[in-house]
Amino acid sequence: MIIDSHAHIAITKNVEESKQKLEEFKELMKINGIDKSVIMIDPYIEDISCKNNKNHRIAMFDGNKPGEILCKCMNCGLITYSGIDPYIKYNDILFELLKYEKNLYFYLLVSVTKTSMKWLIDYYLEKYGKLVKGIKAYTGLSGYNLDDVSSFVGKVPMLVHCGIFDNQNPSNMINFIKSYENYFQLAHFAALNIPAIKQMNHLDNTIIDIAPSKRIYDRYIKRPKNAIIFDIEKYASLDDLYTVILENVDITKVVWGSDYPFSSHSLELNAFTSSNVFTQGEKEKILCRNMKRVLNEKR
Ligand SMILES: [Zn+2]
Ligand SMILES: [Zn+2]
Repeated sequence: MIIDSHAHIAITKNVEESKQKLEEFKELMKINGIDKSVIMIDPYIEDISCKNNKNHRIAMFDGNKPGEILCKCMNCGLITYSGIDPYIKYNDILFELLKYEKNLYFYLLVSVTKTSMKWLIDYYLEKYGKLVKGIKAYTGLSGYNLDDVSSFVGKVPMLVHCGIFDNQNPSNMINFIKSYENYFQLAHFAALNIPAIKQMNHLDNTIIDIAPSKRIYDRYIKRPKNAIIFDIEKYASLDDLYTVILENVDITKVVWGSDYPFSSHSLELNAFTSSNVFTQGEKEKILCRNMKRVLNEKR
C-alpha cells in the first residue's frame, strides 16, 4: 500500500472546475498505484496576490477581528487583502468534495497568524468535526514564525511547510512543536536544516516528509539562490538528500509525499523507489506504515 502524505488540489471558486481537478487527481492516484492521499487546497490564491505583480511575495498578518487577515506585499508594501480569511471558502469547497471519499484525507489549510490561526482551527473543527484529518499550517505566506504563536491543544496532526526563510525555518518552530499534543509533520526534508532535524528527531511527535524530493533536487540544484532547502549545492545527487535523512532521522519518522501539483506522482515515486539508499523494509515504512500511524489507520 502507498499513502501520499502531502498533496494539494488547486481549488477555485468554480466548483465544477475544482471537481474536475479532483477527478484528474484520483485518476493519477490509480494509474500510479497510490491507495490513499492527504489533500489540502493550494495556498496560492488570486484573492491575496499583489495587483502590481502576481509573483511578489505576500505576508499574512492578523486582521481586525479573529478570523480576519491582512495581507501585505513584501516587495512593494501594498496591502493586497483585508477581511475574512479567503482560505475559508476554498477549504469549504474541498471539504464538500471530499466528504464521501474514503481514501482521501481532508487537511485544512490555515495560515500562521498569532490570533486568527487558533480561532480558525476551532471554527473549522466545530464546523467539519471528525472529517478534519489534519491541519496544514502554511508558513510560506506568513508574517510570523510558528514560535510567535501561543501554543494550543493539537486535536489532529499538523503539517507545516519548511524552507529557508525565517517564517519557514524549523528552528523557529521548535517550541510550538514541543507543546503540540499530536503528530507534527515537517515538510520538504525539514529544509535540510541539520541541527534542527537532529533536535526534531528527539521529539516524540515529529514526522519528516520528503516531498517532493525529485522536484526539489532538479529544480533548485540549478538555482541554489531560490532553493527551499539549506546548502543545496552541497549535495551531489538526490541520493545524498535521502542519505542525510537516513543518517539523522529515525526511519519510523519519515514519510513520502508527492506535493502534487508542484511535482508529479510518477516522477516522485520512481525517484524514491529506484533509489538504493533505503532497504525494501525502510521503503515500506516511508511509503505507508509510518503515515498510517499518523492518520490512525488500522487497515
Ligand atoms: Zn507588490
Ligand atoms: Zn505542499
